Amino acid sequence: MSKEILRGGQFLVKETSCEDIFTLEDLSEEQKMMRDSTKEFVDRELWAHWERFEKKDYAYTEECMRKAGELGLLSVAVPESYGGMGMGFVSTMLVCDYISGATGSFSTAFGAHTGIGTMPITLYGTEEQKQKYVPKLASGEWFGAYCLTEPYAGSDANSGKTKAVLSEDGKHYSISGQKMWISNAGFCSMFIVFARIGDDKNITGFIVENEPDNGITLGDEEKKLGIHSSSTRQVFFSDTKVPVENMLSERGNGFKIAMNALNIGRIKLAAACLDAQRRVIKEAVVYANERIQFKTPIMNFGAIKAKIANMATNAYAGESASYRAAKNIEDRIAIREAEGNTHQEAELKGVEEYAIECSILKVAVSEDVQNTTDEGVQIFGGMGFSADAPMEKAWRDARIARIYEGTNEINRMLAVGMLVKKAMKGHVDLLGPASAVGEELMGIPSFDTPDFSELFAEEKDLIKRLKKVFLMVAGSAVQKYGPDLENHQQLMLSAADILIEVYMAESTILRTEKNAKRSGEDSQKTQIAMSRLYLYSATETIIQKGKEAIISFAEGDEQRMMLMGLKRFTKYTNNPNVVALRTEIADRVAADNAYTFD
Ligand SMILES: Cc1cc2nc3c(=O)[nH]c(=O)nc-3n(C[C@H](O)[C@H](O)[C@H](O)COP(=O)(O)OP(=O)(O)OC[C@H]3O[C@@H](n4cnc5c(N)ncnc54)[C@H](O)[C@@H]3O)c2cc1C
Repeated sequence: MSKEILRGGQFLVKETSCEDIFTLEDLSEEQKMMRDSTKEFVDRELWAHWERFEKKDYAYTEECMRKAGELGLLSVAVPESYGGMGMGFVSTMLVCDYISGATGSFSTAFGAHTGIGTMPITLYGTEEQKQKYVPKLASGEWFGAYCLTEPYAGSDANSGKTKAVLSEDGKHYSISGQKMWISNAGFCSMFIVFARIGDDKNITGFIVENEPDNGITLGDEEKKLGIHSSSTRQVFFSDTKVPVENMLSERGNGFKIAMNALNIGRIKLAAACLDAQRRVIKEAVVYANERIQFKTPIMNFGAIKAKIANMATNAYAGESASYRAAKNIEDRIAIREAEGNTHQEAELKGVEEYAIECSILKVAVSEDVQNTTDEGVQIFGGMGFSADAPMEKAWRDARIARIYEGTNEINRMLAVGMLVKKAMKGHVDLLGPASAVGEELMGIPSFDTPDFSELFAEEKDLIKRLKKVFLMVAGSAVQKYGPDLENHQQLMLSAADILIEVYMAESTILRTEKNAKRSGEDSQKTQIAMSRLYLYSATETIIQKGKEAIISFAEGDEQRMMLMGLKRFTKYTNNPNVVALRTEIADRVAADNAYTFD
């Protein structure tokens, strides 16, 4: 493989060429077919019946899951040897993406089953476990659910009280405990359950078949703000007998399994927030083109154009970063397989490698879908508040994405924490670049006039400098607080926002640059505007978060020097005309009457 594949987190300290990133425009014919058949399924079975999902028609969710199984949509990521299609990581992401357009209820059921409900077995199961369970899960004959959360163990997932006690004859474990917020609980055939054996430091994973006669009872369906037809119940285990051969991996390995399943879950959740945005944009722009006020379609108003432009820009940025990371994971898996790892080991390590990017994407894209649905409601005005129009439910459905698969607070801190740990272990060289930034701050800045004539020359120079903001802020914070940094959460959160914006902005610029090189700048006029607009708002966020961090932990000369550095690293030579960018984007979306950049 000739192109360079960065390791997880290395995007911060290494430059990426646009040829080295994968974009939605690089899909193979097979991947396009997968995407199109997913879209067709969504339009036919889900979007046409969105009201049923609002009316808590759980049976319909289950029926659609079975139909998805018949079409093979549940088996995309499953290896062929276990009845799946064995397609790559990008194809898996595509299905998660395009299945999310119609209703959060279905995409939650789909994600809980194909991700956290199935992946712990494909990633950690023994050959016997995989042969026994995975084909049934891949075909939709069985559905899976994932029981980690408990009433007193949410974000602190390793603190669960559910117990597993080995029988005297050593043949089975008895599991007792209470799990809550379990997606798919109402119709699943099997649970992945995490329980503690004795006083073990870490929990252990088990595969538990859903047999009501075996001490398993369910709470009522939770009454939720959104995702109304996703089944969410408490699950009570009382002396539930589980054969010893149903332990996943080893005793005490459950926390690791849980976290790795969540890493995959996080990037897939980001994908599952993409088509939701595209569809909301489409509904919003169709409405704005039709709704007349002051004798003109409201789409003609600058206030509405600004919203549509921001919505489209964020969706485009989310796509750019999600598929960039997905392909990195796919390539890393291929490299490991070529080195002799089994597919199982390769997949596990491949995803683990990009855990930082998975957390970044989970946070960024879940917040984009929330903002987009919120502006969608606003564009619909009073009708946005009506349960008879689609925006109200889209807004409610979007809210959960910031909470599950690790809250966005936890994921922000994880992203920075994992990066610092990688640096300490020498896996990503942050210390060298961070001290180079320190030296640069002491030096005299260059007064040369740079040549920014090439497309994105200035933007790429700016991104290089934005990375220095992170290195400056995080580097000084690590120097000051050492391992105690994790107790300075507000600082960690600011650093995370800088990290997130750098990754999203860089991915967006690189995607457009790649496409402009192959199909010409004219074909990418709106995408160029979106890339510039995203970078502008990313820079504004970085200025705000950087300043907040610097003035809170640095003092005197150090503070002054860092604030000067912040100014230098975030400076535009040629400020973008933000209104012109938004107008270009909004006019194109209005003319297409849809989001058409995927
Ligand atoms: C609809 C739905 C479906 C779900 N599906 C599943 C499922 O299928 N399986 C499953 O196991 N779980 C599931 N969950 C549970 C979900 O993963 C948890 O709700 C989530 O991890 C947060 O845990 P919690 O609710 O206990 O909140 P808490 O952990 O109590 O968090 C409350 C607040 O405190 C913050 N917080 C917590 N700890 C820290 C910290 N150390 N530092 C800073 N801030 C902190 C959080 O960010 C949050 O804002 C689901 C939840 C919902 C609502």
